[in-house]
Amino acid sequence: MADRVIVVHGGCGNPAAGVVRDEASYHRAMADALEAGSDVLEGGGSALDAVQAAVQSLEDCPLLNAGRGSVLTADGGVEMDASIMSGADLRAGAVAAVTGVRHAVALAREVMERTPHVLLAAAGAERLAVSAGLELCDADWFVTERQRERWMASQGTVGAVALDGSGHLAAATSTGGVGGQLRGRVGDSPLIGAGCYADDAVCAVSCTGSGEAIIRGSLAFEVAALMRIGGLALTEAGDGALRRVGALRGDAGLIAVDAAGNVAMPANTTVMHRGVVRNGGPPETAVFVTD
Ligand code: ASP
Repeated sequence: MADRVIVVHGGCGNPAAGVVRDEASYHRAMADALEAGSDVLEGGGSALDAVQAAVQSLEDCPLLNAGRGSVLTADGGVEMDASIMSGADLRAGAVAAVTGVRHAVALAREVMERTPHVLLAAAGAERLAVSAGLELCDADWFVTERQRERWMASQGTVGAVALDGSGHLAAATSTGGVGGQLRGRVGDSPLIGAGCYADDAVCAVSCTGSGEAIIRGSLAFEVAALMRIGGLALTEAGDGALRRVGALRGDAGLIAVDAAGNVAMPANTTVMHRGVVRNGGPPETAVFVTD
């Protein structure tokens, strides 16, 4: 079997000094997600199943801004965006502004597998969740005391990218958006080419950070384009694409893996929760960008 790699992130940001409390629990959240993804890959499963398993684990973690624990909209609710993409055939699925679905990434997968569309929003996406038999939760279940108190600002998004033993790549991203966003606001996370992209010929990318700047800079696609058209290596492509978003005043980070198993995890913020596992080995996790 060729090399297997799973990489995850739990969002980036610039929290005020001393605000990253209980750092160990973030390392644990990354390690749990890596284990979920790695178990799939080591069992001979696909990169697509691995990124979905990893992101579902992160969506369930109340510390992170996706699924349960999502940030609150201006009117105190939770609206989630998610996407998933298969590098083997460029199939993709995504959902925007959904409520009440435990795993938005699973619903994005349903859009990809069961519909002729790429992106379904709001009530239409929720109807698909019901017909697909996905787990539904009361609106209140997603709202944690922690988010209600808003004691931690700018905790963004979760995502995963993977390379499986057959040489296929996949990416997935899931978020509650940005705190206080207008109802109906959709960020980069469900937009293929912005917050998520995968192409076996180049790389798989999942982004986090200022959604509007990431959309304008087409961050995930820019990484792939700098490699495919520009001939850059993964690290240089990731850095170059991020600089462009930085020039748009975007705070952002991304995780990426290429077809050779190289990994890049750049961010222009002080914090990006992230981690990687290779070939079922021990998880390497980090919180601060300088780690
Ligand atoms: N990119 C996400 C959004 O704009 C938020 C984040 O990653 O912090 O919806």
